[in-house]
Amino acid sequence: MRPWSGDRAPAGWGLGDGQAIPWEYAPAPESRDIVVLKERYGLFINGREVEASDKGVFQTVNPATEEKLADVSRATTADVDRAIRAARRAQGGTWGKLPGRERAKYLFRIARILQERSREFAVLETMDSGKPIKESRDVDVPLAAAHFWYYAGWADKLEYAFPGRNARPLGVAAQVIPWNFPLLMLAWKIAPALAAGNTVVLKPASTTPLSALLFADVCRQADLPPGVVNIVPGPAEIGMHLVSSPGVDKVAFTGSTGVGKLIQRAIAGTDKAITLELGGKAANIVFEDAALDQAVEGIVNGIYFNQGEVCCAGSRLLAQESIVEPLIEKLKDRLSTIRVGDPLDKNTDVGAINSRQQLEKITELVAAGVAEGADLYQPACDLPDRGYFFRPTLFTNVAQSHRIAKEEIFGPVLSVLTFRTPDEAIEKANNTPYGLSAGVWTEKGSRILSMVRKLKAGVVWANTFNRFDPTSPFGGYKESGFGREGGMHGLHAYVRLEDR
Ligand code: NAP
Ligand code: MG
Repeated sequence: MRPWSGDRAPAGWGLGDGQAIPWEYAPAPESRDIVVLKERYGLFINGREVEASDKGVFQTVNPATEEKLADVSRATTADVDRAIRAARRAQGGTWGKLPGRERAKYLFRIARILQERSREFAVLETMDSGKPIKESRDVDVPLAAAHFWYYAGWADKLEYAFPGRNARPLGVAAQVIPWNFPLLMLAWKIAPALAAGNTVVLKPASTTPLSALLFADVCRQADLPPGVVNIVPGPAEIGMHLVSSPGVDKVAFTGSTGVGKLIQRAIAGTDKAITLELGGKAANIVFEDAALDQAVEGIVNGIYFNQGEVCCAGSRLLAQESIVEPLIEKLKDRLSTIRVGDPLDKNTDVGAINSRQQLEKITELVAAGVAEGADLYQPACDLPDRGYFFRPTLFTNVAQSHRIAKEEIFGPVLSVLTFRTPDEAIEKANNTPYGLSAGVWTEKGSRILSMVRKLKAGVVWANTFNRFDPTSPFGGYKESGFGREGGMHGLHAYVRLEDR
């Protein structure tokens, strides 16, 4: 471990090892005023905000302060059935009968409104989820809008997307999403479904329902016909009731592999279409010829972006043995500059963990890493007194058999492994039940191409990490799920192709 603490300059800054940092960041809090929080949010069914049939509510909190933000209506099975009926009526009636060019106008309108209200969405998303404002502002909300722009473009061009075939909507889509990118996951699900002429019933995660409910307001503002989008917050059983209902034709789930398996089992034997976007344990592979400073930025972005609560996070660093020492040295230097704290502060890099439950899971796995003999490194940094925070963590001396090398931690925790040859890197990278993403860092184009062919991962980034674009398909191999979201592949998952 280096001999300097958090208020000392890292060697790489050229100030002399261990010098006091000569300046501090001033607080730069984003104002919350743009968000008008309601005391109570209803369900969104058939174009209207309604209470749950049993008047039940649950609370959502701000994980950075542990304060309650609002009461949210908790859908009952009867409410879900009502939402499915509304979606069915809209699909068979207004929405299903609209020509693609008319559907496109609604999607363009939604995209525009998301952009116009982007600051409101970003602040609300940060308050409800704990992610830093610079991420919700610069990544989540712009990308969510981009998905609506992109799929709006396809709505009247389905015959070009699927030449020689007739693309028909599947019908009513049941969509269940997680808490790590609440609005973005909603956009990944709703935009292609609507573009292809389907209607949807969506269940947001229970810790982050608010951006979905603000999206309901966008649907009203865009004059979307009633029933095309329905939003039913509620617990896990409500998600299960929704996906297993005989009234839905398509199931789209993003979340953990365990729940994905339950859902697949529940709908086995039906003719429902299904896509599952599940967990991951991605390898980020750094070769000795890579530009190390760039690789360090990519490693940091890969695992500490969104507190590491990213399905495709680069949680296993595979470093070639000859460069592991300088690489780790640079990484430790860089870690000392990461700012952990108030997610609404514009300078914050790592915000709050989404829930107490998730914080406990991370804490438990990190303790297991220490108990199994890996070496733990955490930069000195003050954590806020309240809220669910966790220090950026780096484990060296990790064996493939360690839990921290095998299990998805879903937190800001990086496990470093080493390799000597490209074959060993491939073998170690693929030695996981998951297969969602991977990263390769090397100056050699030929090596990138050869690695990409051998890595069993849905997405492989080369000399970058965590890049997303609506035109590019995303999805997994093995226990990371099946089906693709994004791009034309994402559209394909919402259509039935018939011969002309
Ligand atoms: P989770 O427990 O599977 O929850 C995801 C969603 O499913 C939530 O809305 C949850 O509702 C609901 N749910 C939970 N149990 C259910 C059940 N038995 N039947 C139906 N629905 C159920 O996942 P998580 O722990 O919140 O999210 C993290 C996981 O998501 C990680 O494994 C991560 O890798 C994965 N993920 C994957 C992708 C991808 O694109 N591949 C993207 C993001 C996240 P409640 O909130 O009410 O429990
Ligand atoms: Mg919350």
